[in-house]
Amino acid sequence: MDFATIRNNLERLGYRTAQYATRHEAAAAIAASTAGLTVGFGGSVTLEEMGLYEALARRNTVYWHWRAGQCGGMDADAVRRAAATADIYFSSVNALAVTGEIVNIDGTCNRIAGMLYGHSRVCLIAGRNKIAPDLASAIDRARNTAAPLNARRLGLQTPCAATADRCHDCRSPQRICKALSVMWEKPAGCAYDVVLIDEDLGY
Ligand code: SF4
Repeated sequence: MDFATIRNNLERLGYRTAQYATRHEAAAAIAASTAGLTVGFGGSVTLEEMGLYEALARRNTVYWHWRAGQCGGMDADAVRRAAATADIYFSSVNALAVTGEIVNIDGTCNRIAGMLYGHSRVCLIAGRNKIAPDLASAIDRARNTAAPLNARRLGLQTPCAATADRCHDCRSPQRICKALSVMWEKPAGCAYDVVLIDEDLGY
C-alpha cells in the first residue's frame, strides 16, 4: 500500500509517522526506540498480533490489563490506572482517515483517555485495514466494522455481536461503544507517533 498521502496529511497535522512492511519489523523498531521507559497499553488485538508486549517487556516495565497476571499481582483496573501514568502509551486505532483524522470507539474508555492525555509520548499503530478514505468512512468503519467484531470477540450480549456485520444502534447493558473520539489533529503537549504497517492487523 502507498502510505505517502496519509503520511503527508498526518505530518501536516503534527504527528510523526513511520511505516513498516511487517508487524515484526515494526515491533523490533519500537522496542529499540523505547528501551527503559515505562509503557502503558490500551486493549488492542493489533498489539497482541504484533507480539508487542513480549517485545517490550524484555527491557521495559509494561502495564497491560490483558497481561494483568504478569503485573505483580495487580488487578486489571489497577493495571489500567498504572498504564495511564506510564511514560509512553500504545494503542491501535479503530479507523484512520487518509485525510488524517483518527477515530476510536471505547467501552471502558481507558484507551481513549490514554491516547488523548497524560503521557509525554503516545504511539498509535494501524494496519492497512484500518485506513478509510475520509472521516465519514472512518467513523463508519469504527461503528460498523470494528465495534461489532470486538463485541463478538468479547462474547457480549449485543445485536452486533450476533451478526458481526453492522451496528444496530442498541442500548444493550453490555453495549461496547460508550464513547467515540475523533482526533482532528495532534493534541498539544505530547509527542505522537503514528506507525503504519502494510499488513491487516486487528479489527
Ligand atoms: S451500539 Fe450496540 S449494536 Fe452498535 S456497535 Fe455498539 S454494542 Fe454493537
